[in-house]
Amino acid sequence: MTNQASREVWSAMANGLRCKCPRCGKGRLFRQYLKVAEACDRCGLDFSHHRADDLPAYVAITIVGHILVIGLMHSQMPGEDQGQARDLLAVTFPP
Ligand SMILES: [Zn+2]
Repeated sequence: MTNQASREVWSAMANGLRCKCPRCGKGRLFRQYLKVAEACDRCGLDFSHHRADDLPAYVAITIVGHILVIGLMHSQMPGEDQGQARDLLAVTFPP
């Protein structure tokens, strides 16, 4: 017995990781940055019941936060040139 469901799950996950429709693999999953489309523009699969709530924003903030934390920690290291970290913070948080 072949496991058709597991193959569909894996292909759907692969399509989702490519930000494509889980069913057809051609339509766009997002209509803009961090905004899930209402439906697939190719096959019409309804995405409206997939509520991400704050997870996309949380993930983006976490990733950007880690970059800033590394920059801040690097800026606190003694004997290091702190110019790059200051430049990074100045670009991120303009005066
Ligand atoms: Zn589709």
